Amino acid sequence: MAEWGPMTMNLPPHQPTRETGVFVISGPTAVGKGTVVARMRERHPELFVSVSATTRAPRPGEVDGVHYWFVSDEAFDKLIADGGLLEWAVVHKRARYGTPRRPVEQAHAEGRIVILEIDLQGARQVRETYPDATHIFLAPPSWEELVRRLVGRGTETEEQRAERLETARQELASAREFDEVVVNREIEETVHHLVELVGL
Ligand code: 5GP
Repeated sequence: MAEWGPMTMNLPPHQPTRETGVFVISGPTAVGKGTVVARMRERHPELFVSVSATTRAPRPGEVDGVHYWFVSDEAFDKLIADGGLLEWAVVHKRARYGTPRRPVEQAHAEGRIVILEIDLQGARQVRETYPDATHIFLAPPSWEELVRRLVGRGTETEEQRAERLETARQELASAREFDEVVVNREIEETVHHLVELVGL
């Protein structure tokens, strides 16, 4: 029997498993997920960052095929019917969002690191498909800061903001389902931390 001694006591802390190379990044509205993930991709083009399909309308500056695939309700129905989505969910009670299956499977098969920036409902579905995926929760420094960022962004109506904050409340409560929690205080610091977490 192994003795309890320095060898066992010095075991490294739990490391996220990288068996599958699939990383899910979730977190409440306006926490900065989009910015942080875009920055990661800029620095490391070898990362595969999934582009989701959505039924919501593009915001100013958003480009089809870059930020999202902007699709009609009918096209989204077809994607679901054809099994073309790895996961999908209705987010903020408004629009549907889903991860196209084929590009993820292909990148994964090529051994690339796959990043999915999706909501909590989607993250739970990915656990079924990729049980070894590492789930990272991006958290705001505080609730007040989250509200400030959402209002400052100015892209939502009052009603949409209220819906998003309600979803955020539920998402923050779920942080303990995740393998890692990263507080997004400062973008560069967060990007650095995430790049390390995915093993680059
Ligand atoms: P936004 O409309 O602000 O771009 O995104 C709203 C929410 O949808 C975010 O929380 C984002 O993580 C989530 N989301 C984006 N793409 C997907 C997806 O493919 N699947 C799921 N389940 N959520 C997504």
